[in-house]
Amino acid sequence: MMANMMRGSRRGVAPLAAVAAVLLSVPADADAQNRRRNREPTVPPPSITEYKPRSTLKVPEHPVPRAKYPVVDVHGHPPLLNDTANVRRVVEAMDRLNIGVMVQARGSQGERLTSQIETVRSMGLGHRFVFFTTLNLREVGPGSGAEIAAQLERDVAAGAVGIGEISKGFGLFYTKTDGTRLALDDPELDMVWKTAGRLGVPVFIHTGDPAEFFQPHDYNNERWLEMAIFPNRQLNDRSRFPTFDELMAERDRMIARHPETTWILAHMSWYANDLARLGALFDRFPNVYAEVGAILYDLGRQPRTARKFFERYADRILFGKDSFQPDEYPYYWRVFETEDEYFDYYRDYHAFWKLYGMRLPDEVLRKVYFENARRIIPNMPRAPFRGVTGDAQAGNGPHPTASMARK
Ligand SMILES: [Zn+2]
Repeated sequence: MMANMMRGSRRGVAPLAAVAAVLLSVPADADAQNRRRNREPTVPPPSITEYKPRSTLKVPEHPVPRAKYPVVDVHGHPPLLNDTANVRRVVEAMDRLNIGVMVQARGSQGERLTSQIETVRSMGLGHRFVFFTTLNLREVGPGSGAEIAAQLERDVAAGAVGIGEISKGFGLFYTKTDGTRLALDDPELDMVWKTAGRLGVPVFIHTGDPAEFFQPHDYNNERWLEMAIFPNRQLNDRSRFPTFDELMAERDRMIARHPETTWILAHMSWYANDLARLGALFDRFPNVYAEVGAILYDLGRQPRTARKFFERYADRILFGKDSFQPDEYPYYWRVFETEDEYFDYYRDYHAFWKLYGMRLPDEVLRKVYFENARRIIPNMPRAPFRGVTGDAQAGNGPHPTASMARK
């Protein structure tokens, strides 16, 4: 029929109009349906966990096994360091990766804290570790604030130089003695944050989880796979959990009441996919810093935006890794130091995309890797940074809240 019409078209205008009329008479949605049907796989498609395409891209590759400058890992979760074999194993990895100082941010207080401090000192490795103390924020009730603040004073006197990591349980799971959820801005804890400010020790706090965990677990959710592997990471039950934004607003009210306290927000406050939001937070609170642990997938998918952000807020960003897997650190060095393209990330359930390098300028790298940490964490060891370019400035910058750092 079409062939007849095409032949007819050579004869004059009228048959052309007939062709148009026939084409227009085909319903548009049927047409679209046909096209879609033609694109369906002709064999059963793989599942999300089965499809692992090999990249055919050939571009220069610059793996970075060792950081360019000595690093302070402010979000260290090494094993307990009251065991000399553990300490030796961790230091061996730190030497290889060029981590100068690791902050022990694993929950430790009292004897568990002091036994670790004693162990690393007795091994002559006191210059490679600093220790944060943990607060017991479970079952908070009247009088808890004073008790927790007293424990904090004892632990700082024993050598702790910060608080943390405060777990995401605070805000999500911890309850008060009356059974209600402990809100981040609960006034009972004001005394604790005030004490931290007076002692000059930073508060390292992990709040919430990626915003997608608070959303419905559907096929449009960026974290579908992770939420399927770990159903307990789903925070979308509104009868149990506040929304992501409610939680962050609570946290911001707590920070707003304590301008003398230094706050380090773990995981860039889960704003790494919305850096403008983190920038607004930095602009609002000069006493707030952020740490980059476990959000590398977000920086590595926006290398240009992230680089501009790091340049602008170079004084506010700290390196941290979170889980202690020595072979994962080089992915961070590569994103920060190179401009490599389209390379693998280390955890496929965090992100199904590839990473790109930000190639940060040296002065930004030094701030993020060690200078900022040495400025805001009191009593940071100097030895691992001796002779490093920029060391003359490091550790001497005054900070309004770090009274201990000036001693
Ligand atoms: Zn952590």
